[in-house]
Amino acid sequence: MIIVCPACGAKNRVPEDKIESGPACGQCHQPLIPLAPIELNEQNFSNFISNSDLPVLIDLWAEWCGPCKMMAPHFAEVAKHNPHVIFAKIDTEANPRLSSAFNVRSIPTLVLMNKTTEVARISGALRSPQLQQWLDQQLNVSK
Ligand SMILES: [Zn+2]
Repeated sequence: MIIVCPACGAKNRVPEDKIESGPACGQCHQPLIPLAPIELNEQNFSNFISNSDLPVLIDLWAEWCGPCKMMAPHFAEVAKHNPHVIFAKIDTEANPRLSSAFNVRSIPTLVLMNKTTEVARISGALRSPQLQQWLDQQLNVSK
């Protein structure tokens, strides 16, 4: 499958059974699937989302949003346990065009993407167990 490097944007072909062994980018040698949320923005979003063969779970957040900050460590925690999903954050203030493309009405909002298709979304802060449960439900549905 194709994984886009979050650091340099290079497309890497990775065998599916190597996903959990922490593959590195052939170009820049950074981890291809860092077990921490990556940052997406208006520059890298389109390349990343349209070329990644793994589902991408996006946290749309803002600096001033208390519930977003509450959820951040939970989002990072769940990211560690789900190497088959790429966890990404989009700062809605810094990326107004993405924010309006997602038609974000409240934050935090989580959007699960499969390539350029929105699979599911949920608004409001979730703690780790709820987030994992919600994610499991969505992935089962979309299989
Ligand atoms: Zn790279």
